[in-house]
Amino acid sequence: RAPRRSRCDAGFHHGLCRMAPDRPGALGDMGPDEFRRHGHALIDWVAAYLNESDRYPVLSRAAPGEIRGSLPEAPPEAGAPFDEIFSDFERLLLPGVTHWNHPGFFAYFAISGSGPGVLAELLSAALNVQAMLWRTSPAATELEEVALGWLRRLLGLPAAFEGVIYDTASVASLHALAAAREAAVPGVRADGLAGVAPCRVYASEHAHSSIDKAVMTLGLGQRALRRIAVDAEFRMRPDALRAAVADDRAHGRTPMAVVATVGTTSMTSVDPVAEIAAICEAERLWLHVDAAYAGAAAIVPETAYVLDGCGRADSLVVNPHKWLFTPFDLSAFYSRRMDAVRAAFALTPDYLATPEAGQVRNLMDTGLQLGRRFRALKLWVVLRYFGAAGLRARLAEHMRLARLFAGWVDGSDDFERLAPAPLSVVCFRARPRKPAGGDRDDRLDRLNAQVLEAVNASGEVFLSHTRVDGRFALRLAIGHVRTAERHVTRAWTLLQDAAARLGDGPA
Ligand code: PLP
Repeated sequence: RAPRRSRCDAGFHHGLCRMAPDRPGALGDMGPDEFRRHGHALIDWVAAYLNESDRYPVLSRAAPGEIRGSLPEAPPEAGAPFDEIFSDFERLLLPGVTHWNHPGFFAYFAISGSGPGVLAELLSAALNVQAMLWRTSPAATELEEVALGWLRRLLGLPAAFEGVIYDTASVASLHALAAAREAAVPGVRADGLAGVAPCRVYASEHAHSSIDKAVMTLGLGQRALRRIAVDAEFRMRPDALRAAVADDRAHGRTPMAVVATVGTTSMTSVDPVAEIAAICEAERLWLHVDAAYAGAAAIVPETAYVLDGCGRADSLVVNPHKWLFTPFDLSAFYSRRMDAVRAAFALTPDYLATPEAGQVRNLMDTGLQLGRRFRALKLWVVLRYFGAAGLRARLAEHMRLARLFAGWVDGSDDFERLAPAPLSVVCFRARPRKPAGGDRDDRLDRLNAQVLEAVNASGEVFLSHTRVDGRFALRLAIGHVRTAERHVTRAWTLLQDAAARLGDGPA
């Protein structure tokens, strides 16, 4: 029997636009009626989830291996109805999900898959566009330029910054340092690093570990990364940077690049980029700014200062998937020297050559990967849906909530703040008035680790930790689009209760 055919809904029918029928044994894809039925149900599920994700424990309670153990080792021979698959998703997988899209998520950097962003991801999945070449989807290539241009304006960066989207800041910084290596070591692309004087990259003691990984990956060796001392507010010390560069030159090494951090991972300190830029200009070093989290704050007038001096950088990364409500993953990389990025990565085999190459951007030229998702769509949708004013208001509210929380900590006799909280992250610890075992740092470290476990076990909130000057610090990061004052208040209540309970016992 000939398969049943159905018309696509586009209002026209040209014979090619047919999806396969919903019939066991038939070839082709899921049929349109079946897709519609499950799609509608799925959207209803997602709408309820986004609205009530706090019904779930934010930190998964799964034991190691539990999820894997609940699934068959062998793949199914026969296909299964989507209902059955979805019911397994809910029953078997959901308990193993840590809910990043939960308003009580305060760990690491809180992020959001916002409603408009999720819808854009659905569209992007449906199109399945692969934007390696301009012709493999002109809209994906050109929208990337437009959306990154909008974001650049919102951030107040100069027009000389050309943008490209990568998946993560780690990958963006790797590309920045690859370009810096290309600029510093002529011929490295063809000949590698054999016989070249050791290169050096400088970043503060608090720079993200992705910078270590980048120098390791680029064959510079982890020792190529010199960690520069910080001041009392955890910002890179320009005098220490100057001294390190001079020391390396004196020893015949090749200073190559500086990575300044705008919003360090632990306490969101902001390196003095303008002073660092002056050193880089004098020393002819590539300046890359890692503004993965805090760059977004530049769209708010009161915190626009975070990007002061960044217009003088060679490159900069900011992650809309961190604090701009864009579903993971989307990292915006900007460079005023994209020619150096291209010099490091562009390579066109015959099968990828196109006649329009001279007139267009082929995004495969600005990166390691060939295939690339249509990520620009979700950024464009998010920017349009919330608008600049909406984004500003939400970020400002997160910073207000962080100040409120920091004020509670400062006003408490049983807690203390361990670092300035310039943006939406607060580092603090419990320090009860009369701690059972005394208030030596090691005892307080243990007590705070227990407090953290206790509040996270509640399922209502999830915080993470770091170390500040060697001391175990609790860390509350506000960034989810649905986080409201009541969630922050609840976190504070849980922390106070846990500290009171555990602080009385043996610490
Ligand atoms: N840079 C900084 C300052 C970060 O805080 C982080 C992650 O939190 C990263 C880079 C890495 O980000 P990604 O996960 O996008 O690689």
